[in-house]
Amino acid sequence: MDELRELYQEVILDHGRNPRNFGHPDGCNRQADGDNPLCGDQLTVYLKVDDAGVVEEVAFEGRGCAISMASASMMTELVKGKTSAQAEALFDKFHHLVTDDTVDLDMAAEDEDLEKLVVLSGVRQFPMRVKCATLPWHTMTAAIDGKGTVTTE
Ligand code: ZN
Repeated sequence: MDELRELYQEVILDHGRNPRNFGHPDGCNRQADGDNPLCGDQLTVYLKVDDAGVVEEVAFEGRGCAISMASASMMTELVKGKTSAQAEALFDKFHHLVTDDTVDLDMAAEDEDLEKLVVLSGVRQFPMRVKCATLPWHTMTAAIDGKGTVTTE
């Protein structure tokens, strides 16, 4: 288990140091700001959603702790190419993963998308960190729903 924990730590640090899809691409038609004042995480999520509801482009800018930056980075990789409904459904599953102790990690790892997010499941033990991990996802769904701002408070 310690080895696994180290691996998870490594993945989080890698995404935190080198966030994927960081920036503000041209042609985005939705955006929202997310704020987690308890930790100081602040980010903006940009989306380009086409007429069929497919997320063609997703990126973010901002700053925060390694957990929030890693979660944002992973979120952009997983949401791209999905419909907005699929993106929101994945957030539901991720939310369960990081808040519900009864979610079995082996079962979660069988889900192609959720598997990549299992590295963040350790935040379960730390309610403050759950807010860091879920902030990018709350912000992404707020952008889809046309809400401009979300805060964890
Ligand atoms: Zn944080």
